Amino acid sequence: MMGESEKRLGNRLKTAAEAIRGAEYLTAFSGAGMSVESGIPPFRGEGGIWNKYDPAVLDLEAFVRHPGRSWPVIREMFICFLGADGRPPAQPNEAHRVLAKWEAAGRLKTTITQNIDGLHAAAGSRNLVEFHGHCRTMTCLDCGRELPLNAEATRAAVPRCACGGLLKPDFVFFGEGIPPGALEAAEEAARKTDCMVLVGTSGVVYPAAAIPQLAKRRGATIIEVNPEPSDYTERIVDLFIPMKAGAAFLRMDALLGPR
Ligand code: NAD
Ligand code: ZN
Repeated sequence: MMGESEKRLGNRLKTAAEAIRGAEYLTAFSGAGMSVESGIPPFRGEGGIWNKYDPAVLDLEAFVRHPGRSWPVIREMFICFLGADGRPPAQPNEAHRVLAKWEAAGRLKTTITQNIDGLHAAAGSRNLVEFHGHCRTMTCLDCGRELPLNAEATRAAVPRCACGGLLKPDFVFFGEGIPPGALEAAEEAARKTDCMVLVGTSGVVYPAAAIPQLAKRRGATIIEVNPEPSDYTERIVDLFIPMKAGAAFLRMDALLGPR
């Protein structure tokens, strides 16, 4: 017999699928939890890298003053995304793939991610706002030259540009602004959307956390996929799906049927 809680969860998934099917401008908003099933630990909580390092090393001023303290952390994150030392590169999981499929089918208009691991793009998402930048390149803080961020380029203890300047990876450090265009694109999507699906985000990092709040104020239905309640759950979420991303998106996708 089906348990009462499984029945309730089934009903919530059905209601979520109906909201997704009926949406005119569906958006997704993802955080670190999206990539946990791809083997990338979140910053906070179990297995998080902030249990091992002080987040202050990824502060822009700290980086400029003591780059030799920041680079071991950057390198560790980077190895975790791209693989190295016998570790395979991280791959998109079922949830990334379902979102890319919904976009290709015209169901999903925009994906806004706080992640810097590149997995939404790897899964095929195209209309993607990388709110906190990415790990594909680094930029010289002196001359502005852009170089690929790869194992080769980061071999030195502190990678430097030919001009001698410090090379900073193109993800957003603490104390740094959101990349040009990303804030505007995210806000535009939040104003247009009538249904936003939050996945794997705790809602404590600003200004990113203001995006779902803007969508809510504009009248959007907010669905949240997260095994744990977040800062959003009580405040703005209409439909909370207490599940891991992979299983939740597979079940919602199955309920949606073909398009
Ligand atoms: P967070 O680390 O603050 O919170 C992660 C959330 O994911 C939690 O609410 C947790 O309950 C949930 N979660 C855990 N496992 C999950 C699963 N399997 N499915 C769905 N949800 C799951 O994440 P945040 O809100 O994104 O803030 C962290 C910041 O750190 C972001 O700004 C991001 O840029 C950065 N970050 C990025 C990566 C990455 O690129 N993969 C990884 C760690 C941190
Ligand atoms: Zn330079």
